[in-house]
Amino acid sequence: MRQWNFCAGPAAISEEVLQDLKSELLEYKNSGTSVMEMSHRSEIYTKIAHEAKSDLIEILNIPNNYEVLFLQGGATYQFSMIPMNFKHLTGTADYVTTGTWTKKAHAEGSKIIDINEIYSSEDSNFTCAPDIEKLEISENASYVHYCPNETIQGNAIHDVPNINKPLIADMSSVILSEPIDISKFSLIYAGAQKNIGPAGLTIVIIDKEFMSMDDNSLPNLLRYSQHSKSNSMLNTPPTFAWYMAGKVFKWIKNSGGLDYFKELNHKKASKLYGYIDGSSFYSNPVDINNRSIMNVTFVLAESGLDSLFLEESNTNGLLSLKGHRSIGGMRASIYNAMPLKGVEELIEFMKYFESKYG
Ligand SMILES: *Cc1c(COP(=O)(O)O)cnc(C)c1O
Repeated sequence: MRQWNFCAGPAAISEEVLQDLKSELLEYKNSGTSVMEMSHRSEIYTKIAHEAKSDLIEILNIPNNYEVLFLQGGATYQFSMIPMNFKHLTGTADYVTTGTWTKKAHAEGSKIIDINEIYSSEDSNFTCAPDIEKLEISENASYVHYCPNETIQGNAIHDVPNINKPLIADMSSVILSEPIDISKFSLIYAGAQKNIGPAGLTIVIIDKEFMSMDDNSLPNLLRYSQHSKSNSMLNTPPTFAWYMAGKVFKWIKNSGGLDYFKELNHKKASKLYGYIDGSSFYSNPVDINNRSIMNVTFVLAESGLDSLFLEESNTNGLLSLKGHRSIGGMRASIYNAMPLKGVEELIEFMKYFESKYG
């Protein structure tokens, strides 16, 4: 039986989407084959790919001076691809470090470009995040990189900063959770396996003018403009993940779009944080204004009870609540596919556990 899955990624996918997949898994629309077995250049697959792209453009209200790319390599690959493409502009970039992922982006990026780390909350264990508009941005930065939602620590920068440098965001765990103003960014990237679909696909949304400045000395597969020229089919794309992402985009559209999910996601998160804050047994260390809506981290008053909590929650149909191995504690990832009911059942379990062992 399917249970409530709080995994940070690869994460839960709506059952509606999976049922729809199941109905066409063996044979896609009288094509005689499944989607996994058809040429990515066939007419039928080209239609799947185009539709996914245009649905994403519609849901996110992406202006037409932006390109949407369907790439591989995960968000981690973007940690290198971004500096490779834009290093030649000024040779330096500004990075904001608010958690494990931005720290990795910085470490990987440093191998390629000179990085000014204009902020780091590592001293406070990444429990806070800055107002980027108030930071001192370097005069010669080619771009400014940040992560609006740090998946591991569960912190967030909710407002998109207005700055006069190209803004780049790792939106892996927050994309499609609410409407955003794409026009404020030069580049947005996201691995699909959090809030989009199965692993293997990476979405890049890039300002076409910024894209035109990519480094033309790079091999084609490393250049955004070359992926764009070939409609993200420079080589065989992850056809199944792309097709599934398309199904998720349709599901989002049919559910009421990003306004609907924004409301639902805030409702889920505020219920859970509200319960945690009202309890003396559970706590969350992140600054109130920087709490993630998608990844809710919490610790028990006695860490000696962690393994019991995980064991019992699992038996009660609440899966993958273990925090990331690097920070311990618990984490409930409550992306779009987690219904309110799942969060309510988690809270019921937390109450029960506290009353039994607290
Ligand atoms: C999961 C995640 C990554 C790493 O994604 P991969 O697709 O595994 O490379 C990077 N950044 C953020 C914010 C993430 O949540």
